[in-house]
Amino acid sequence: MNRIDLEGRKAVVTGGARGIGRAICQRLTDSGARCAIWDRDEAAAVEAAGAIAGSEAIRVDVTDPRAVDSAVAATAELMGEIDILVNNAGIAGSSRKLWECEPEEWQEVLQIDLFGVFLCCRALLPGMITRGYGRVVNIASIAGKEGNPNASHYSAAKAGVIGLTKSLGKECAESGVIVNCVTPAVIETDILKQISDEHVDYMLSRIPMGRFGLTEEAASLVAWLSSGDCSFTTGGVFDLSGGRATY
Ligand code: NAD
Repeated sequence: MNRIDLEGRKAVVTGGARGIGRAICQRLTDSGARCAIWDRDEAAAVEAAGAIAGSEAIRVDVTDPRAVDSAVAATAELMGEIDILVNNAGIAGSSRKLWECEPEEWQEVLQIDLFGVFLCCRALLPGMITRGYGRVVNIASIAGKEGNPNASHYSAAKAGVIGLTKSLGKECAESGVIVNCVTPAVIETDILKQISDEHVDYMLSRIPMGRFGLTEEAASLVAWLSSGDCSFTTGGVFDLSGGRATY
């Protein structure tokens, strides 16, 4: 593992209780940061915080503005001001054609995967801008670049995250706050339980490297994007797709 210096930094990782978010918390704390695990699954967040030295669990639903504001206050009390925000909480939704989707489920995917990113940025960015330093990393998806069939809600939400990242990167460009996103292809985590085996097979078949990505591979890119070493790149979209997307 390359050493990334995050000594003294304080991070929020949404959806950090399991999967990619948990690997990110592990990598950030291994690099010297303290990390607040923001997750709606309190039991899993507490378990993860117990296993990852330097981390704390905070229960929050990222779609609820008041809960997000309370989480900001609780985090500040536990560890002070936040320098790093990783917007990772997300759901896949079920694998269906657009016209087979219930409106409620379509909206739920957009609420968590896109609106939740907006709310967390809105809550934490002003402090970063005032202090003149911050790093934001949004976990988008290859689906947002290419559009996966049977995932119109998810593809639309993740395309929205890419657009939000480009816009916010420019809004913060002179403030010392840097905003980027990553676009993973399929990584084996609990999220795959939400979608059909056929859909997983489709996504795997599109990866030239012929394998799933690893949570640690996502965490390693996120750690660099969260660091002071990433200083002249903002509004960027970083590929993590084993060769599927070359843009
Ligand atoms: P996961 O299901 O393993 O973990 C997601 C975490 O987010 C869970 O702990 C869950 O409780 C939390 N969460 C969900 N809704 C929440 C809410 N409203 N408020 C707070 N927490 C909430 O998923 P994962 O595979 O680790 O995915 C993490 C991120 O990476 C997601 O944004 C996902 O879309 C993205 N992603 C995953 C893959 C993949 O193949 N695994 C590929 C591309 C992008």
